[in-house]
Amino acid sequence: MSASGPGLLVAVDIGGTKTALAVAAPDPGGPEPYLARHRFPTPPTAGGVLDALLPAAHRLVAGRPVSGIGVSFGGHVSLDTPPALRSLHVPGWEQVPLATEMERALGAPVLVANDAEAAARGEHACIPPGQREIDLAYLTISTGVGGALLLRGRPHRGRNGLAGEVGHIRLRDTGACSCGGQGHLEAFASGPAIARAAAEAVRRDPTDPTALRARLDRDGALTARDVDAAARGGDPLAAAVLAEAGELVGQASAMIGLLLDPDVILVGGGVSQSGDAFWEPLRAAVRADVLRHVLVRPALLGPDSALRGALELAADAARGAGELRQPAAVAP
Ligand SMILES: [Zn+2]
Repeated sequence: MSASGPGLLVAVDIGGTKTALAVAAPDPGGPEPYLARHRFPTPPTAGGVLDALLPAAHRLVAGRPVSGIGVSFGGHVSLDTPPALRSLHVPGWEQVPLATEMERALGAPVLVANDAEAAARGEHACIPPGQREIDLAYLTISTGVGGALLLRGRPHRGRNGLAGEVGHIRLRDTGACSCGGQGHLEAFASGPAIARAAAEAVRRDPTDPTALRARLDRDGALTARDVDAAARGGDPLAAAVLAEAGELVGQASAMIGLLLDPDVILVGGGVSQSGDAFWEPLRAAVRADVLRHVLVRPALLGPDSALRGALELAADAARGAGELRQPAAVAP
């Protein structure tokens, strides 16, 4: 019998737009250890997510025993047991006891982490065994900007679960952030912030021949993907907008470098898929600000990092099954 017990591991990644789940044998290894996977658009309410998730999990498990469940949650996860959840994109999680319901439905202990920590753990799981005792900082540049720290390979959440919340580091005097603050990294580097900055730049100068103008006139708005596509085509306005975002991510990375001196800083999330217009200023800002070399590189697994990390959480849940299981939570 393996250390994780005999049952399957179930991994779930609940994002703002997509929910993914997968099952794997105990002691998963490598980037793609799944026996089966399933994905569906995230329903608009928390209750709807649970109603879609439980039958999908039962189908993948197909009656086999489950030894642990891990959930990556795209929102705030409190440090309580079971954790309280809150999402800016999907309302109602405050009233839905996700961990308790999943534990009851599948008969196995559940661990939940926010998506940045799960993604960090997913990336970490791809490092060869024997080299995992490292300090790793993970930044996600997506609809929001978040991050997580693994110290000696283990998550470091801090006293209030705020460790690694780089999106709200203040780098400028002004610039409204989603949290209500001013000048935070997220207000400049998130996908929506990049799209908004590009649209403002296009409207500010009606004579600029940017390729984004036709797209903005047609759709009424831009996406960060539009900006990246235009920058890859050599559009100077698009490149300048991405460069500002990249430079600020680089400045935040340099701060992390000076504070923690980690072995590596990984940058993931949709915006990290952008091209040189984003990455060159990012790397230049790190080089300019840091006294010695800090390794900053793109995350390896792209959109699959969080699901892979949820599988690590499931393995942890299985290993700690005795202590984690709450009798009240599994009563019929
Ligand atoms: Zn903020």
